[in-house]
Amino acid sequence: MNYAFPPAPVVTLDAMSSNPFPVRRIFCVGQNYADHVREMGAAPDAEPFFFMKPASAVLQNNSVLPYPSGTTEVELVVALHKGGKNIPMDKVDYDYVFGYAVGLDMTRRDLQRAAREKGQPWEMAKAFDHSAPCTAITPEFYSGTIARGKIELKVNGQIRQSADVGDMLWRIPQIVHFLSNQIELFPGDLIFTGTPAGVSPVVKGDVIEAAVAGLEPLTITIG
Ligand code: MN
Repeated sequence: MNYAFPPAPVVTLDAMSSNPFPVRRIFCVGQNYADHVREMGAAPDAEPFFFMKPASAVLQNNSVLPYPSGTTEVELVVALHKGGKNIPMDKVDYDYVFGYAVGLDMTRRDLQRAAREKGQPWEMAKAFDHSAPCTAITPEFYSGTIARGKIELKVNGQIRQSADVGDMLWRIPQIVHFLSNQIELFPGDLIFTGTPAGVSPVVKGDVIEAAVAGLEPLTITIG
C-alpha cells in the first residue's frame, strides 16, 4: 500500500518478556477517588465518565516533559489485549486485561477551568503533546489482578499523593464494562483509571516520581 506520505509510527510500550504493546487509544476516567472528587468541588456520579488522549500523547518512562505541563496526577493504567462491546464485568480480569502500568494524567488546569466555565471541550487541557507519561506494562501473568495496593506520587522527593487503588469508586471491571457500553473497545486500548487527592502543579526542573505497588515506578522530569 502506498500512502500520500508515510503513516505515523505505531506508539508502543515495552511489556517485559512479551513483545511490545501497540497503543491504540487512551481513555481516562474522571473523578474516581472520593477524596479527589471533593478536592475538585464535584459530587460522585451514578456512572463513571470518560475523556481521551491520543496515543501520540504517550511519553516514555525516564523522559523529560517539555514545559508547560500544568498539574500532575498519578494513575493506575490498565492495558487491554481484547476488545468488544457490552463487556460483562466478571470477564474483564483475565480475558481482557493484558497488564498494568503507572501513568500520569497531565492537565493544563488553567485551560480546563476556562473551558468548563465556557461550556467548551477539555481537549487542549488534557490531550496535549506528552500529556500521558507511562511506564512499561507489567503483564497480568506477572502481577496478578491489581485491585488494591499503594499508589503514590512524589515531586522532588516530597509525597503529594498517597492512597490505595482499592479506594477507587469504580473498579477496573466496572470501568471496562461501562466504557464498552458506550464505545467498542479494541486490543491496544489503555485506560487511565483516575487519581486520588493531592493533584499538584509542577514547574520546570521538577522531578516527578509515581508508583503503584508491584509495578515499575515512573520518573519524569519537567524540562
Ligand atoms: Mn486524571
